[in-house]
This record gives sequence, structure tokens and C-alpha cells, in this order.
Amino acid sequence: MRILITGGAGFLGSHLSDLLIAKGHEVVAMDNLITGRVENISHLMGNPKFSFVRYNICDYIHVDGQLDAILHFASPASPQDYLEMPIATLKVGALGTHKVLGLAKARGARLLLASTSEVYGDPLVNPQPESYWGNVNPISPRGVYDEAKRFAEAMTMAYHRYHGVDTRIVRIFNTYGPRMRPHDGRVVSNFVVQALKGKPLTIFGDGSQTRSFCYADDLVRGITELLLIDSDKSFAERTNRASFLTKSDQPLSETMHDPVNIGNPRELTVKQIADLVLKLTGSNSKIEHKPLPVDDPKVRRPDIRRAKQLLGWEPKVELEDGLRKTIEYFRQVI
Ligand code: UDP
Repeated sequence: MRILITGGAGFLGSHLSDLLIAKGHEVVAMDNLITGRVENISHLMGNPKFSFVRYNICDYIHVDGQLDAILHFASPASPQDYLEMPIATLKVGALGTHKVLGLAKARGARLLLASTSEVYGDPLVNPQPESYWGNVNPISPRGVYDEAKRFAEAMTMAYHRYHGVDTRIVRIFNTYGPRMRPHDGRVVSNFVVQALKGKPLTIFGDGSQTRSFCYADDLVRGITELLLIDSDKSFAERTNRASFLTKSDQPLSETMHDPVNIGNPRELTVKQIADLVLKLTGSNSKIEHKPLPVDDPKVRRPDIRRAKQLLGWEPKVELEDGLRKTIEYFRQVI
């Protein structure tokens, strides 16, 4: 396949480029570099299966040649970034998503939207299944990302239902690994960089809020599985729905066009993450408490039964192993 990746120079976009090229596909990476970085893809430059275009996908997009699939990953994704760039975040979620869907429709390409666990907001159920509608405050500072992605999901489903575009939606939970920016503000990168520099680890609030962390390699493997499935038939054949639904569940959606959570269900408090980073880095940094950001979700953990049953996917990398690799990466780059 020849695949366009928007946000192709970002943390996840660049890992996806690597995996898809390794599988024999051709990748066109597009990125306006507001949070993406050329360093993430410099090792691919010169590879005949890879090309890079610096472009803002909120404008009309043209791609020369064959186009079989689009992975729509362009967006600021760290809270620090989307709070600093609220309008760019809303625009890429709305206008950018509209542009890539128009391109997919015109070229008969399959489109996969990178959505997020943020569509569940500050969830009132834990873990979060795909059937949960979420608890989002549209006018909070965080709402710019949550609502952009919720709109993007709605627009994607509308292009699927109204225009018959072959779409996929993945809801990505917290992910970490090499190529995160050292100062992107997310908890793993912050704690590792702080620990390596001997600076205090900044816990926001009392550190009792939870997150569940997936290593980047696991995540891009799941996304690739979802992208490459060819028909609802092969999708349905993978599952035994009787065992998939329990009494208390809402019936889960039936096709590969409905959202799929991808994440690691091992849930830790932020305090536990800080302790683990201190242990694995051998740092004697202190802990410093800072105010909790507005509407910071109190819990987050993916229900991954759908991904397991429909894709045969589950994470394989233990948090300790993934963190060791991530620490190694940050040692090299900071
Ligand atoms: N957090 C923290 N210290 C930091 C950065 C983040 O305690 O230096 C907390 C943040 O308040 C949230 C969790 O860690 O509860 C995860 O934050 P992150 O920005 O990584 O992503 P989120 O899951 O909030 O999108």
C-alpha cells in the first residue's frame, strides 16, 4: 500500500512510518512540524519507500500518485501543547479531519483516525469501554482537544455512512517511548528528564489520579492491525460475540468502522509512576507537588476486550521494560 501519514514526523507517526515501511509499504509523511520533529524521521530520509512533505493539512491537500490509505495522526497531543495552541488544535481536529476525509473520498483510500481516550473526558466509569459516551466539559481549557477529537470521530462516521468511505477509529490511551520530546510536558517524559537531571519530579495534585501506559511499539502494532483489516467479514470472523458481551454491558458496536480502544490496561497512580521512574533511573530527585490542571481526569484505564477479540491484539511490553528503553533514549538526547 502507499500510505499518507499526517503528523508523520510526530512521536507516533514516526513509529508508524518505521513499522509500515518494515512491512513493505510506502509512506508519505506530512507534518507542519509545530510539534513534530525532523529528527524523528531523519533515519528514513533517502529510503525510496519514504517521502516527507512539510504542510499544514488544514489547507487543501494534494498527494501525487497512488494513495491507498491515510493515517490521520496530525494534532498537538500533549496537554501542555494543546493548552498553548488551542485554536490550532481545534482547527486540525475539525478542518484537518475534513480535508483528509475529502482526500480519502476522492481517491478511494481507507482512512484511520487517531482518536483518544480524552473523548471519555473525566470518566465516571473505569475501565472505559468503547460504549461509554464520556464526561467532557466542552468549555474547559482541555475541551479544545477533547471536542476536536469528538468532532473528528463524528465527521469520520458521517463520511463513512454518507459517502461510504472505508474508515477506522482508534482511541489511543496514554503512550510513551523513545521520540517523545523531552519537554513535551507529559508525565513520563517530564519525570524521566527530571530524574536524569536530578531535579524534583513535579507531581500535579496529590498524585492519586491514575493513568495506564502503553509502550509505543505495542500501540503501533495494534493500529497497523486495525488499518490492514480488509473487510467486516474478516473482522467479524475473529470474534465470538457471545463471550464478548456480559449482562452489564451495553451491546458493543458491530463493525470495524466503530472505535477501538488501544492501550495498556495496567493502571497506576501518578505517585506510583514517579516512584517507578526514581527506582529505574537510580535518581535521588525529590518530589515537588504542583497544582492539578483544570479537569485533569481522575482515573483512566482502557477496556481492551474489543481490540483483543477483534484484532487478536494485546500489549506485550512490560512497563518496567518499556521505561528502561525510554530512559535510555532520554539519556542520549538530553
Ligand atoms: N502530571 C504530573 N506531573 C507532570 C506531568 C503530568 O503529575 O509533570 C500528571 C497530570 O496531571 C495527569 C497525569 O500526570 O494527571 C498524566 O498527564 P499527561 O500530561 O501525561 O497526560 P494526560 O493523561 O493528562 O493527557
